[in-house]
Amino acid sequence: MNEYINKIKNKEIDIVEHTHKVIEECKKINKEYNYFNIISEKLALAQATALKKDIEKNNVKNKKLLGVMVSAKDAICVKGVESTAGSKILKGYKPLFDATAIKKAVEQGAIIIGKTSQDEFGFGSFAVNTYNIPKNPHDKTRSCGGSSGGAAGITAKAHFPHIALGESTGGSIAAPASFCGVFGLTPTYGRVSRYGLMDFGNSLDKIGPIGKTIGEVSALLETISGHDDKESTSLNNPIEKYSNIKADVKGMKIGIIKEAFGNGVEKAVDKTVWEGIKKLEDAGAKVEEISLAMPIEYGLATYYLIGTSEASTNLAKYCGMRYGASEDMKDSFNEYFTKVRSNNFTEESKRRIMLGTFARMSGYRDAYYIKALKVRTKIIEEYKKQFKKYDALVSPTVPVLPTKFSEIEKLSPLQHYMMDVMLVGPNLAGLPHMNVPVGFENKLPVGMLLIGNHLEENKLLQLGNEFENE
Ligand code: GLN
Repeated sequence: MNEYINKIKNKEIDIVEHTHKVIEECKKINKEYNYFNIISEKLALAQATALKKDIEKNNVKNKKLLGVMVSAKDAICVKGVESTAGSKILKGYKPLFDATAIKKAVEQGAIIIGKTSQDEFGFGSFAVNTYNIPKNPHDKTRSCGGSSGGAAGITAKAHFPHIALGESTGGSIAAPASFCGVFGLTPTYGRVSRYGLMDFGNSLDKIGPIGKTIGEVSALLETISGHDDKESTSLNNPIEKYSNIKADVKGMKIGIIKEAFGNGVEKAVDKTVWEGIKKLEDAGAKVEEISLAMPIEYGLATYYLIGTSEASTNLAKYCGMRYGASEDMKDSFNEYFTKVRSNNFTEESKRRIMLGTFARMSGYRDAYYIKALKVRTKIIEEYKKQFKKYDALVSPTVPVLPTKFSEIEKLSPLQHYMMDVMLVGPNLAGLPHMNVPVGFENKLPVGMLLIGNHLEENKLLQLGNEFENE
């Protein structure tokens, strides 16, 4: 990427011409793979033209992402570009403002090429709960993973320098990165402003980068991190120079989560992740198996109660009055709302609205929602205990190889949820975590999950760097 940026700066590559080519390539890829809900051709060309003027005036000295193509998961608002979060209910909605992450990327010279396909509002593990289903770049009969499926897909497929902005509530950056064979980093909760991200679960949502290289992931993370006056949960801690981080794993202590291997994990995944661990060990890391005191499965129940509780309130605003889809107004308001919501939400959204509303209802609140919050605290305490001893924890990212669409159809909702078994823990605890592509099995990528302590993204990048040229 740095070589490319220099060429842009030295006018060896004409940024406007290059952007034209990129858009044409995206259109071609999109016909076959459905990675974009919309390609923002006009915006990208306008941004490229503006950059070209600045380059001619020598006005672009230290722009970290000069001319780099950035795509945004559809739930991340881009001013004037239709943003639906993968939902029919938001068809036609064009935000009046940019998300902070977009604004910061553009300030550093990024060009926004489009909105990537995803599960509706992030509800899913295979990116199939939507009107535009992305296909795996390594095998079109398989899923990209979810919910940031389009983001990971285009990252793997693009021939031009590109980084994706994804979003994770319970694993939606790492899981698709694993299925598509790229790096995907979910930062510490609060590291990146959520302003302009359509909410799924406010206490869980994180925006983060997906890239082909650690260098790209680091550069975008560095760009979008930091406090934002518009978002009160964004953190004020200083931003590290992530892009200066080199591979240096000597002496680092790594805990392998024992329960995350074996039963329920595909053999090919198990084997390839262990090869990744071996690589870290060979590079000088100290590796030990550990057991989490809190069974991993508790994370799923906790996540799906808290996540749906928050989602069910967040979705209340989509009623056909303010945003997106509408219907003819005939009967009472209640009937109108019901009609809009029935016709435009997927089954999965309806399921989550019902589950979340139930868990928050008086009479059930203490038994479900409040209890889940208590278990969440226990989960956080358990991880914090481990990080007194270890620099990072490791597990497979997803227990299976990229799943065939024909198999996904047969899975129950609960089996869909189980895909996140390794990912909901760090997401509930707000811990940074990253998918590292560690190898291929039957031409399909396998991902290893690195989990770090709060605000220790640097260690994950240090470890990930070992795999940079794989
Ligand atoms: N697969 C998880 C879910 O369905 C996570 C989604 C996400 O992180 N946005 O909720």
